[in-house]
Amino acid sequence: MTANMNHNEVDMKLIFAVVYSVFAISSFVHSATSTQTFSTSAGEVKITPLNHASTMIEAAGKTIYLDPAKPVNFAGHPKADLVLVTDIHPDHMDPASIAELSKAGTEIFAPPVVVKTVTNAKPIANGETKTWQDWSIEAIPAYNLTRGPAPGKLFHDKGRGNGYVLTYGGKRFYFSGDTEGVPEMRALKNIDVAFVCMNLPYTMPPDEAADAVKAFHPKVVIPYHYRGSDLTVFVKRLEGTGIEVRLLDWYPK
Ligand SMILES: [Zn+2]
Repeated sequence: MTANMNHNEVDMKLIFAVVYSVFAISSFVHSATSTQTFSTSAGEVKITPLNHASTMIEAAGKTIYLDPAKPVNFAGHPKADLVLVTDIHPDHMDPASIAELSKAGTEIFAPPVVVKTVTNAKPIANGETKTWQDWSIEAIPAYNLTRGPAPGKLFHDKGRGNGYVLTYGGKRFYFSGDTEGVPEMRALKNIDVAFVCMNLPYTMPPDEAADAVKAFHPKVVIPYHYRGSDLTVFVKRLEGTGIEVRLLDWYPK
C-alpha cells in the first residue's frame, strides 16, 4: 500500500540528499536515475524504474511490466508483451493501467486472488514456476510476519502475494513484492540483481531489509517501493558485505 502520495517533492529532495551523501561512503554504492542494463547470455536486459513498484523490463524486443500502476503515465510507453502483478493493493494491481498497456497477445501472470479482478490473467501461486518466451518466472511468497493494520491482522497475508525470480540468459532477477524479510527471501540462491521493498508501516524498515538481503547475498541490490524510508540506513548496514547497492529514483516528478 502507499502512503504520503502527495509528498513526492520531499521524496525527491530526500533521494538526492541520500545519493550525494552515500556516494562518499562506499565505492559499492552507485546512484542512477535511469534504465539499468544487464548483460546475459541471451543478450541485454534493460530495467527501468517507473514509480514505487512499477517497473519496465525489456529484452529481445519484448516488454514486460511489473505492477504497472498509477501515478505512472503510460502514454508513449511500449505495449506489454507480459504483465506481472504481485498483489491486490492499488500500487501493484491497477486494472486500468494493465488495460492501457494491453494489446493482442499480451499475457498476464498474477496471484490467484488478483485473477478475480484481472480476469484475463493466468494464475501463478507461491512456489510455482512458469515459462514465458525465454524467461523462467518463479513465484516467491511475499507476506508480513508481524505488521498489520490491527492486532492479529497482517497487511499482507501469507499465500496471497508473490515476489518473482525472473531468470533470463542465466541471470536471476528478484523482485520482492510487498513483504518482510521472510524465510523464503532469505533462502534465495544465486540472485544477480535484487529489487527489495521497504516502507513502514506496510512492509519493513531499511535495517530489516538490509539484514534479509545479507542472508541471501545478491550481487546487486536495488531498493524499490521505499517511499518514506531512510536509504542511508540500508546502505550503511550493507557496507563491507561486498553487495553492490544501487540507488535509483523511483519517485520522479
Ligand atoms: Zn505496496
